[in-house]
Amino acid sequence: MKRLLCFLLCMLFLPVISSGEESIPADTLVIHFLDVGQGDAAIIQCGGQTLMIDGGDRDSNQFIYAYLKDLEIEYIDYIIATHPHDDHVKGLATALSLCNAGTVYSPVTEYDGDGFRDFIKKLTERNLHITTPHRGDVFNVGSATVIFLTEPQESWDMNDQSLMVKITFGNTSFIFTGDAAWEAEQDALGSGIDLHADVLKLGHHGSTTSSSQAFLDAVHPRYAIISVGVNNKYGHPADETLLKLSHMYVSVFRTDKHGTIVCTSSDGVNLSFVITKKNGKW
Ligand SMILES: [Zn+2]
Repeated sequence: MKRLLCFLLCMLFLPVISSGEESIPADTLVIHFLDVGQGDAAIIQCGGQTLMIDGGDRDSNQFIYAYLKDLEIEYIDYIIATHPHDDHVKGLATALSLCNAGTVYSPVTEYDGDGFRDFIKKLTERNLHITTPHRGDVFNVGSATVIFLTEPQESWDMNDQSLMVKITFGNTSFIFTGDAAWEAEQDALGSGIDLHADVLKLGHHGSTTSSSQAFLDAVHPRYAIISVGVNNKYGHPADETLLKLSHMYVSVFRTDKHGTIVCTSSDGVNLSFVITKKNGKW
C-alpha cells in the first residue's frame, strides 16, 4: 500500500440495501481498480484470498508487477480474463510471472493475439488450465461471493463474450463487465439474476457500445468506475454514457482523472473510496 500516497480520502456511507437477512461478514473487502491507462485491471482481496480481474496492456506491466509486490501477493486464488483482448489480458501474463494461481477463468481457450499467447504461455509454465464458466457458476473469495452473469455465445462479438460477474459482500455488491456490450447486457438482463449493484465497473471503458439504459436501470449503481487512458484515441468515455450516469445521479470515478481507485468495505454495509490523484472534477 506504500504506493498509495493518497491525496483524498472520501468516506461515503451507503444505506443498508436489504432487510439485514445477510449476516455481517467477518472479513474486509478491498477492491483495487488499477490505473493501467487504456485497459482494465482489478485486484479483489477478502479473507486472505485474492481475485484478479484482467491485467491491463503491455504498458502497465511494470506497474502491475510493482503493485502486486507492494500488496505482498504471491498467490492469486482466482484469475478472470474477461476476454482475450490485449488491453485486458497482457498484464495477466505479467502477474503470472510473479505469482502462482489457482483457478483461471476465460470465455475462450484459444485466441489469435499476442497478449493471449503470452497469457497461455505463462499458464502452461505454471501447469494451469483455463476453466470456461457458465452463467450462475459461483465461487467465494473470503466471505465475498462471485457469480457469473452471462452465457457467452461463440457467435457474439469478442467484447460481448466478456465474462461479466457480480460480487456480493454482505449487503454491498459490485458488477464487473469487461468490455461487454449491449448483447451481453441483454443476456444478463434475461438471466433472472438480481443485477442491482452499488458499484458498476462500466463496460468497454465507457464506450457507447456498452451501458444501455435498460442495463443501467437494472443495476442502478450509486458509483461507476471507468477504466480509461488519458486522452485515449477512442474518445472513451463517451459523453452520451457520462450523461446517462449524470441523469441517474451516479458518482463517477475515472482512472484517467483519479488514478488507482481503492474501494473498501469493512462491514458489508459501508463503502469507502481512496483515490491516488485528484486532477479531475469529482
Ligand atoms: Zn478493453
